[in-house]
Amino acid sequence: MRFLSGFCLVCLLLASAAPAEAGGGLPEILWTPAELAGHPEDHARTRSNDAPPARMEPRVQLPPLPYAESGNIRRVTPPRGDKPVALTFDLCELAARSSGYDDTIVAYLRAHAIPATFFAGGKWLRSHRERGLQLMADPLFELGNHAWTHGNFGIMDVRSMREQILWTQAYYEDMREELLARARSRGLDAQALVAPALRLFRLPYGRCSPSALRLLHSLGLRVIQWDVSAESAGDNSRPGMAQRVADRVRPGSILLFHANEVPKGSAALLAGVVPLLQERGFRFVKVGELLALGQAQRSQECYFERPGDNLRYDTMFGADGTGRRTP
Ligand SMILES: [Zn+2]
Repeated sequence: MRFLSGFCLVCLLLASAAPAEAGGGLPEILWTPAELAGHPEDHARTRSNDAPPARMEPRVQLPPLPYAESGNIRRVTPPRGDKPVALTFDLCELAARSSGYDDTIVAYLRAHAIPATFFAGGKWLRSHRERGLQLMADPLFELGNHAWTHGNFGIMDVRSMREQILWTQAYYEDMREELLARARSRGLDAQALVAPALRLFRLPYGRCSPSALRLLHSLGLRVIQWDVSAESAGDNSRPGMAQRVADRVRPGSILLFHANEVPKGSAALLAGVVPLLQERGFRFVKVGELLALGQAQRSQECYFERPGDNLRYDTMFGADGTGRRTP
């Protein structure tokens, strides 16, 4: 009977593989609707544990990327007539305090079956482990690495950057093992559903140096920036914001949003931008899918809108971007 009930759960999972794009599947098997919905703890900003993770070296070693792929990716040129775009959401968290989780954004994406890519800080994953597991389990979503404590890769030394990258890779592996074990306890083999390693990286503050890009490439991580920075520092729910964002989107664009409740109004902006883009014939894909659709447009410089526009972050957020006074 145990085998049979396990088998039927596998059937359920496989049967839901297609609608899994609509958010069904593993998350609904492992969590109740109430557990997947928002919780007051999601919004807590508290002093948080800044210790390194227990596992500091990942077991999966990715092969270095080929030389031709050096630089960072800002958008993709898809075939004529195709209009894919990738929505990306950063989950940033500095050393001293935890940040939030915008469940409204995740609920919106799930309700409208919109694929998306989340770039999660390693320490953010630790502060929001259950939320991270839910995102990892959801076939609608893809996760990338956003450094351990949001270090500024324009000014950090190589050893510190290596820790920022690999501690996050290792923590993700630890979470994946827990997720697979939870699935196994329900009779499911989820290995093929959850990527064994993060393969994409987003630079905190959009900052880099030549040595940062070389290091990331040697560790097999593709650096994904954006060509449309959707949010402004003020209230993003203001009228007209969504229109201005949609007007900047082209086929193959990568849009930058945040889902850690900084800045204000990101969820309202997203809910305004998505229908405008759909009306204009755009379709949403994860970054990994976007990269397979066309030629990536790369840059050796890392910036928000134009080279040099993010240098101000080098003297903000502590000595190295993590908020610590000493690196
Ligand atoms: Zn960030």
